Amino acid sequence: MDLKDSIRVIPDFPQPGISFKDITTLLKDGEMYRRAINELKDLVAHMKIDVIAGPEARGFVIGAPLAYALGVGFVPIRKSGKLPYETIEVGYDLEYGNDRLAVHTDAIKPGQNVLIADDLLATGGTISTSVSLVEQLGGKVVGAAFLIELVQLAGRNKLPEVEIVSLLTYE
Ligand code: 5GP
Repeated sequence: MDLKDSIRVIPDFPQPGISFKDITTLLKDGEMYRRAINELKDLVAHMKIDVIAGPEARGFVIGAPLAYALGVGFVPIRKSGKLPYETIEVGYDLEYGNDRLAVHTDAIKPGQNVLIADDLLATGGTISTSVSLVEQLGGKVVGAAFLIELVQLAGRNKLPEVEIVSLLTYE
């Protein structure tokens, strides 16, 4: 079975016109989940990574096992108000409304090489916000890794200076 076959596509979720890529069907299959993480590990093997940062919540599901496999640390990027220690925050626009992402001020040391990981790259808003948080802490973003990239939304064009790798693409 292909990795892509293990992803379920739900039309008109969460709203009409959106074709949602549901990765829960991949995650519950141990062989597919392991394969996805191992293949992502190969895609980032040439990058010098000190720590992986992943945005809540599906960024944890991809970023944390990838960090474990590489033997590097994991930093959670969370919605505003969830992290217990001192944070910095950056706001970003969603299709409807806006939100804020936050990270602990001591999560990344100045000069550390950071890979950002998430399940899916769509418009690039989440990853841009994550890059901005990492850079505000003095981290150097050495790349961004995704399980899925929605090519038509051209999210990667928002960050031409970041090396972006993705395992699966959809038009
Ligand atoms: P962006 O900020 O690039 O527009 O959207 C990416 C973020 O939205 C990711 O954090 C991702 O988890 C979530 N997202 C948007 N569309 C989908 C989708 O079709 N499937 C999944 N699994 N996540 C999505």
